[in-house]
Amino acid sequence: MENKLNLTNGSRIAVIGAGPAGSFFAMFCSQLAKHRGLELSITVFDWKDFSRRGPQGCNLCAGVISETLSKHLKACGIVMPEGTVQRKIKGYYLQTKAGGFLLDHPRGENKITTVFRGNGPKFSGGGGNVSFDAFLLDHVRRGVQVVFRPVREIILAPDPRKTVRIIHGIKGQESSFEADLVVCAFGLNKVMMKKIRELAFGYIPPRTLGAACLEIPLDKRFIQRRLGNNILICNWRTQSGIRIAGMIPKKNYVTVNVIGRGHVGAEDITRFLGLPVVRERLPYDWKRSENLCRCSPKIATTASKRPYADRLVIIGDASCSRYYKNGIESAYFTALQAARTVVNRGISARDFRSGYYRQVKKKIITDNLYGKMLFLIYNLVYESSFFSEVLLREVSREEGFVGKKRMREILWNMYTGNITYARIFARLVNPILQWQLIVTTVKIAYAKIAGRIGVR
Ligand SMILES: Cc1cc2nc3c(=O)[nH]c(=O)nc-3n(C[C@H](O)[C@H](O)[C@H](O)COP(=O)(O)OP(=O)(O)OC[C@H]3O[C@@H](n4cnc5c(N)ncnc54)[C@H](O)[C@@H]3O)c2cc1C
Repeated sequence: MENKLNLTNGSRIAVIGAGPAGSFFAMFCSQLAKHRGLELSITVFDWKDFSRRGPQGCNLCAGVISETLSKHLKACGIVMPEGTVQRKIKGYYLQTKAGGFLLDHPRGENKITTVFRGNGPKFSGGGGNVSFDAFLLDHVRRGVQVVFRPVREIILAPDPRKTVRIIHGIKGQESSFEADLVVCAFGLNKVMMKKIRELAFGYIPPRTLGAACLEIPLDKRFIQRRLGNNILICNWRTQSGIRIAGMIPKKNYVTVNVIGRGHVGAEDITRFLGLPVVRERLPYDWKRSENLCRCSPKIATTASKRPYADRLVIIGDASCSRYYKNGIESAYFTALQAARTVVNRGISARDFRSGYYRQVKKKIITDNLYGKMLFLIYNLVYESSFFSEVLLREVSREEGFVGKKRMREILWNMYTGNITYARIFARLVNPILQWQLIVTTVKIAYAKIAGRIGVR
């Protein structure tokens, strides 16, 4: 028999983590509660100081804010200040085995932005605070208490009618906090995910891939000339397990990201920086120095299992995120669904299963199955010089050619995450597009066999 548990006036909520998921939850929950005339006490815990430079003040990411998230933020009245926006992105340059091509915004807009999650890279100068996470947290701070201390333990009472106890603070100076509800927004913190798993209500953390990031300081005009307002993506696959890499332009920095299986380290970044397509976007005499900001975060590639219990819900990366895409937007969505559930339904495991988990499963987890298929197909194309050539030919056709427009839209949506993977997949299997791809494939094969392009 499951329990009916609800928040009432004066209920205390502990949110663990002040990254995007924690901040969005605090914002939505206080807004929805106000609307219902419910007075809640929300306390957000985090140990990170987002005014610090480098990894210590940063939630380690490429810092691309998707077009759709920008729209959601605008609808919530959240407008990023000029100082937080690093660059407005107009396109993606995709590198394949047969060459590269620029995918620009279908309507020439520049609503995708890049940011720093912390207050800029280590060793960077300048005043003020440019951190996106600090900006979000500041935005939600009214009516919410923020405690800059780590949470160490979560203790669920055997009787779900009783409150949850959390222990926070540095070793030797711990304090206890009684909460009616605990919202876990601690990202991919291994220790915390393990602790939650040990609570044995069925939570299994998401699986992850390794990543390495490097911030390269460059002259603003140089970045504009070599990269422009475009993100470079290479589906660079190596035997050591590297899966994808990219360069993301900021104001006077370029963020380099490499993602792969196992440990991804400095040597993988060095190899990536040696690729001709990357090299030509760096000054010819550029040399890597020791004084560069770098980090090795993890990225989630699967969803967690059972991210909820009585009086406890897990949101953001520790719950689930879109496959290879827009983790901050997934944090937004999971936070919104969790807030709606706790205010409008209740805080029992049953409420979270139907009000929260079912929604995120539909929107993110099931859709990721299509995402995985799309990336599998794209990787097969990328692995083959022949199919890369077919793709390149298709996207470079003369203006007005329907197949070109369709193919470009598919790739644009795959890399921006503007629409669901299921819709992208449906567009890819469109019979007209498939017929055009077959015709292009046959033509290139014929030309090769006939020796017009050159047979090896
Ligand atoms: C290489 C890489 C590139 C990425 N690029 C992008 C991108 O361009 N765009 C995008 O949208 N997403 C990107 N992501 C994903 C994105 O970073 C995450 O999806 C997003 O940050 C998840 O938000 P979150 O709030 O769940 O977790 P986080 O952002 O990790 O925040 C968790 C917070 O919890 C705090 N915390 C952890 N443990 C405790 C504790 N015990 N007590 C108190 N506080 C605690 C942490 O200090 C942190 O502030 C990228 C990820 C990686 C690895």
